Amino acid sequence: MAFYHFHHNKARHVKIHHGDCPECNEGKGKQTRSGRGTTTGNWSSGFNSYLKAYQDANMLARQLNVRVEDHDCIEKMRAAKSLGAIEKTSEEPVNS
Ligand SMILES: [Zn+2]
Repeated sequence: MAFYHFHHNKARHVKIHHGDCPECNEGKGKQTRSGRGTTTGNWSSGFNSYLKAYQDANMLARQLNVRVEDHDCIEKMRAAKSLGAIEKTSEEPVNS
């Protein structure tokens, strides 16, 4: 189980995904032919918790001056409460 984030070159956000998400596909994205680092954007490496992915996405978002958003796959998991680690406050606090 892993979490990833994706920054589309033209988007004003960094989006967090779960590896099982079909759009994420364990950090490969839908365009499997070109793999990571496609011309449209960049996937992060995998993180073993939502919090770690969120923190890394936050650092990237600050550099790029964009927002961090959860993809629908994260919202669905949160709604289903299927994953304790998904809460931002469930582990150590996010460094500010
Ligand atoms: Zn997703």
